[in-house]
Amino acid sequence: MARFIFITGGVVSSLGKGLASAALGALLQSRGFSVRLRKLDPYLNVDPGTMSPFEHGEVFVTDDGAETDLDLGHYERFTGVAARKTDSVSSGRIYSNVLEKERRGDYLGKTIQVIPHVTNEIKDFIRIGEDEVDFMLCEIGGTVGDIEGLPFFEAIRQFSQEKPRGQCLFMHLTLLPFIKASGELKTKPTQHSVKELRSIGLAPDILVCRSEGPIPQKEREKLALFCNVRPEAVIAAQDLKSIYEAPLAYHGEGLDQAVLDAFQISPAPRPELSRWEDVADRIENPEGEVKVAIVGKYTQLEDAYKSIAEALTHGGLANRVKVKIEWVDAEIFDHEDAAPYLEGYDAILVPGGFGERGTEGKIKAAQFAREHKVPYLGICLGMQMAVIEAARNVAGLTTAGSEEFDHEAGKKRFEPVVYHLKEWVQGNYKVKRSTEDDKGGTMRLGAYDAVLKEGSRVAEVYGALNIEERHRHRYEVDIKYRDQLEACGLAFSGMSPDGRLPEIVEWKDHPWFIGVQFHPELKSKPFDPHPLFKGFVRAAKEASRLV
Ligand code: GLN
Repeated sequence: MARFIFITGGVVSSLGKGLASAALGALLQSRGFSVRLRKLDPYLNVDPGTMSPFEHGEVFVTDDGAETDLDLGHYERFTGVAARKTDSVSSGRIYSNVLEKERRGDYLGKTIQVIPHVTNEIKDFIRIGEDEVDFMLCEIGGTVGDIEGLPFFEAIRQFSQEKPRGQCLFMHLTLLPFIKASGELKTKPTQHSVKELRSIGLAPDILVCRSEGPIPQKEREKLALFCNVRPEAVIAAQDLKSIYEAPLAYHGEGLDQAVLDAFQISPAPRPELSRWEDVADRIENPEGEVKVAIVGKYTQLEDAYKSIAEALTHGGLANRVKVKIEWVDAEIFDHEDAAPYLEGYDAILVPGGFGERGTEGKIKAAQFAREHKVPYLGICLGMQMAVIEAARNVAGLTTAGSEEFDHEAGKKRFEPVVYHLKEWVQGNYKVKRSTEDDKGGTMRLGAYDAVLKEGSRVAEVYGALNIEERHRHRYEVDIKYRDQLEACGLAFSGMSPDGRLPEIVEWKDHPWFIGVQFHPELKSKPFDPHPLFKGFVRAAKEASRLV
């Protein structure tokens, strides 16, 4: 049966709890243990699918089609363990389950209360698949003291009481602010945060303290004394050059050892860290730099394209170059010449997106890349824009567009080269959707197979003809334009297995121009970069004449 590690945060948000959890998962793996990471989020949205990327950052999609928090992306990138629907839950989902059961009469007329009904629902969620792994790491979103978070904290308290002694561990992340004027690292906020935690019945076993510099012995002892943890369980988390240095840094600080000690696992299996040492070496010693433009809509918040930025970094690691990302707001050149904004980049990436805003700019970016032979990677909407560009400017379908924008505007302005998909095949099932469906969870979501054309660039990039990638979209390129577009040189080089849905397009007469209907960035890892990102950065490197 799994041992459970609960990760909570205090003092301020955005301390890197997700990263610390992911890095700890990687370290436990390096010692031969199997792990699964989970996120419990206090917000009331049922899932992040309908939350604005401006506010919440990217929506991370799992193979089994769940729209989850971006922290699950970190978990996957660090551990390589594919996240599942059952690895992410919000208060909204928990309450919605409880209310559904109440309506069904499952509670036999009882009064429904936070304790025990909501907390039981949370505990049931935590327990899913507990026999499958050695360690289950559960991160609680938000900060201790938040009103919404209370049922989660109460649930993990009860949970640890129900398990045999020594099977649960609490790790708490806090901030040690540095006061420049007095040259001191302050421990008081951490003391308060732990006090808050203890007032609700939780005593941390390990304290992870974010700080700008190292924690002097004196402060370490003070924290241990006032927060009731062992001095060696006070772990410093200093700012790092790259997130991928976190596993080695935490190992150096003794985090994995402290965890094994707390569980009394002895002798501790030796860690095998060569995977992370290799990644660190590639980060430290790049042989050059390439400049990539991401032409998107949500460019003010980098988290909106988190996985893409990470996958580009991985592509850089594979090619031993640093990838410098510049965010270009597509809307700026909706109505003007894009060239002045796009010159000077070694490659252009147009990411996924929703809605019409900025799409004329994205179409221009695809045109610029095609005409100037700049490497181009179009992801989801970025692929659809490349197809519309080809239809308008090469195939002569001057009014080509996407039904998505007509729906939005409530009029018919475009020839729907990209149309609203209402029926498709998933495994042995037919999935149906209507235009009037709810916005949440109505897309083609999760892993689908694609078949690649022999001899195409993508087949070479993947080194395979059958692939599986994750999707998240409502609209689809219409197969009926295929012959016309292929005759112009835009090859449909990847299709759904039934041959109905275009998955990949590429320009034949171009050094590297690929559009994909899926999200390859979700499956890339630093130690196993995704082939499309590896190939794309390689093309950027060639374009920058580094090769
Ligand atoms: N808005 C487009 C669609 O729904 C693209 C979605 C995306 O880029 N993820 O098909």
